[in-house]
Amino acid sequence: ALTLFVFANCKAQNNMKMTKNTTIENKIDSLLKIMTIEEKVGQMNQYNGFWDVTGPAPEGGSAEQKYEHLRKGWVGSMLSVRGVKEVRAVQKIAVEETRLGIPLIIGFDVIHGYKTLSPIPLAEAASWDMEAIKKSASVAAAEAAASGINWTFGPMVDVGRDARWGRVMEGAGEDPFLGSKIAVARVHGFQGDDLSATNTIAACAKHFAAYGFAEAGKEYNTVDIGTSTLHNMVFPPFKAAVDAGVRTLMNSFNEINGVPVTGSSYLQRDILKGKWGFDGYVISDWASIFEMISWGHAKDKREAAKIAAIAGSDMDMEGNVYVQELAQLVKDGVVKESIVDDAVRRILRVKFELGLFEDPYRYCDETREKETIGNPAHHEAVLDMAKKSIVLLKNENQLLPLKKEDQKIALMGDLANDKSSPLGSWRIASDDETGVSVLEGMEKYTGNTLTYVRGAEVATEKTTFLKEIQFNTTDTSGFAEAIAVAKTVDVVVMVLGEYGFQSGEGRSRTDLQLPGVQQQLLEAVYEVNQNIVLVLNNGRPLAISWADEHIPTIVEAWQLGTQTGNAVAQVLYGDYNPSGKLPMTFPRNVGQVPIYYNHKNTGRPVDKDDNVFWSHYSDVEKTPLYPFGHGLSYTSFSYSDLELNGNTFTLEDDVKVSVNVTNAGELDGKEVVQLYIRDLVGSVTRPVKELKGFELVEIKAGETKTISFTLNKETLGFYNNNGDFIIEPGDFKVFVGGSSETVLETDFVLE
Ligand code: BGC
Repeated sequence: ALTLFVFANCKAQNNMKMTKNTTIENKIDSLLKIMTIEEKVGQMNQYNGFWDVTGPAPEGGSAEQKYEHLRKGWVGSMLSVRGVKEVRAVQKIAVEETRLGIPLIIGFDVIHGYKTLSPIPLAEAASWDMEAIKKSASVAAAEAAASGINWTFGPMVDVGRDARWGRVMEGAGEDPFLGSKIAVARVHGFQGDDLSATNTIAACAKHFAAYGFAEAGKEYNTVDIGTSTLHNMVFPPFKAAVDAGVRTLMNSFNEINGVPVTGSSYLQRDILKGKWGFDGYVISDWASIFEMISWGHAKDKREAAKIAAIAGSDMDMEGNVYVQELAQLVKDGVVKESIVDDAVRRILRVKFELGLFEDPYRYCDETREKETIGNPAHHEAVLDMAKKSIVLLKNENQLLPLKKEDQKIALMGDLANDKSSPLGSWRIASDDETGVSVLEGMEKYTGNTLTYVRGAEVATEKTTFLKEIQFNTTDTSGFAEAIAVAKTVDVVVMVLGEYGFQSGEGRSRTDLQLPGVQQQLLEAVYEVNQNIVLVLNNGRPLAISWADEHIPTIVEAWQLGTQTGNAVAQVLYGDYNPSGKLPMTFPRNVGQVPIYYNHKNTGRPVDKDDNVFWSHYSDVEKTPLYPFGHGLSYTSFSYSDLELNGNTFTLEDDVKVSVNVTNAGELDGKEVVQLYIRDLVGSVTRPVKELKGFELVEIKAGETKTISFTLNKETLGFYNNNGDFIIEPGDFKVFVGGSSETVLETDFVLE
C-alpha cells in the first residue's frame, strides 16, 4: 500500500507546474518522512551482484542474507549486475517486495566501453580529441543503459605520473589541464544532456583523491602529498567533473597524510560538498570503509561506519559496514540522523534524475538491448577512436606507411595474434572473442595471408583480473623461426608489449621494459633485419631505450579495444595519418619515474654547461625518452610567427596568442598544437611548463593555419597553500609547439 502511496504522490506532484528540482526535492522530503532509519541506511548500502563470489568482500553476508536485506529495503544499489534479465530480477524485488518500493540504482565499471570496447582510457587521452572521447563515452553509455545499467564507475580522473602504477591505463595521463578537459568530455559523454534518457547513465569521477600518488607506484599504498600538488595537480580534473555536472564521485583506497580518504571530512565535506557545492553523492571504493580498520584508523566496523558517515562517504560499496552498524549508531545518538538524511537525499536525487521512480524498468528492454549492443555504428565509433589514439613515436627511415604491394612483410610477436589482450583491463561485460587481432586486421586490410611468427610468448599464464600474471617466460625456442623468416622479408612488423591484464588495478610493476623474453627476441631479429616496425601494445609508458636507439620505426598502439587490428592496419598502411600525442612521459629507465613534464625548476636546475651540481641522475640522460605531448605524423609540421596582443597586461586582461602552423610535408594531416606557460616567480613555486591550451587541427599538405589561444585569469592563476585560487602579477613565458618540448617562445608581464 505504501508503495502505491509513494508513486501516487509522485504522480500528483508531477502534474503540478513546479520546477523539476523543486519537485524532486519535495518528493525526497515526503519519502524521508516515512522512511525508517533502517530503510534510510539501506539506501546507503551497495551490494555486489555476483552473489556467489566469496572474493575480497569482508565479512559480507551470504547470498541468502543479501536477498533478505534486499527484500527488507536495506539495499539501495547493486553493482556488477548485468543484462536486462538479471537487472529486472533484482529491481523487481526492490520495487515490488519492499515496503516503500524504492528502485535500486545499478552500477557497473563501464570504463572503456561496455561490450563494444574502445581503447583503454590512457590511449583515448592520446587522441587529444574531445569530441571523439565524448562520443566513445556515449557509445559505452548507450550499450550499458541498454543492458539495464544506470551508473558507471567512470571516468577515472586521477592524474598519473608514475608508470609503475598499473592503473595509469585507466586515466588521462599526467596533466591536470588535459585531464580536466577529458574528464568533462567523458562526463558529458556518459550523462548526455538528459540523465533520464534511456541511453545515458550517471557518471562517477574517481578516485577522490590522490589515489594516483601511491608511494612508489605501489597499488593501494599510502600517499604523502603536499598541499600545492593536491590543489594544483590532483583536484582540477575532479573540480572540472563537478562543474560539468557529474552526479557521483568515488573516494579511494589510499590514505593521505595519515587519514584514509574514506574518512576524510576535509576532502568530502569541506572541499567537495562545501567549496565545490557538489550535490550528488559519494560512493566508497570497494569496502574502503571497512579497510579503515586495517589502516589502523578505526578499531572496528562500528567506528569505521561512524567515521565514514560523518566524513561524508554516502554509500558503502560492498563493505557491509553501514548496513550492519549505521542504524544503531544513529539510535545511540553517535551519528546524527541529519547526516544520514543528507546522504539519502543525495542518493534519491540521482535516482529521481535517472527517471527510476517514474519507471524503474525503463532501462530493462530486451529489444533495445538486442538492437543497441554491438551495433555497427558503435563499431565504427570505436574504430575511429582507436585510430585517433595511436601515437607514432619514431619513423626514421620512413618505413611507414607500409606498401600494399612489392613489399614482403612478416608479422611477429605473441600479441599480434591475440584477440583478447588488446581489449585491455576492465572489460567485464565483453567477450574475449569479439576483438580483432592485429594479424586479422592486417590480413583483412590487405586481402592476403600474412607470414606470421609468434617468436616468444608474453606471459606463461594469462589469467584475468584477480590472479597474478606470470610473465617470467624464458622460452626462446621460437626465436630460430623468427630469425629465419626475418632474413627473407623486407619489413618485420613486431607487436610487443604487455599482456592485456598486466596493467590495470593491482598491477604495479617495478620493471618497465618489455616483459619476458620479448626484448631478446627484438634484438635477435634486429641482428638479421633492421627494417623493423615495432608496434607497442601496453597500458602504461614503457622504458624502451634500446628500441629507441636501434629500431627505426616505433608505433604506440596501446590496447585499442575491439577494433584493435583494423585500426593498426589502417594506420600502418597509411589509410589514416597518425595524430596521437603522448598523455604521459616515457622514461628512459624505471629509475627516472616519476617523471613528468610539469616539474619544478629546483634550486639546482639543469644547466647548459653540464654542471654536475644540478639536480640530476649521474647514470642516465637528463631528458625523458619521449616527452609528454610527443607524437609524429606521416607529414611534418613547422611553427612560426608566435605573437601576443601586447607585452604588458593587467590581471583582468585576456592575453591573445597566435601562431602559424604549416604542414610542410606531402600528406594532409592533423596536429595537436600545444600552448604552455611558465609563471616565473610565484609565492608558491610554479612548474617549468604548464599546458594551458591545445587545439587539434587538420592542415592540408602545403597549407598554413593560424591558431589562436586566449590566456586569462583562469589559466594564469594557481591554488595557493590555503587552497585559494589566486593570480599574481609578474613575468610569464609562453611556449608553443607540437609537444612539451616546444619550438617557439615569447614572454609578457602581468601588472
Ligand atoms: C576499484 C574501483 C571500481 C570498484 C568496483 C575497485 O576495486 O578501485 O575503481 O569501480 O572496484 O568494481
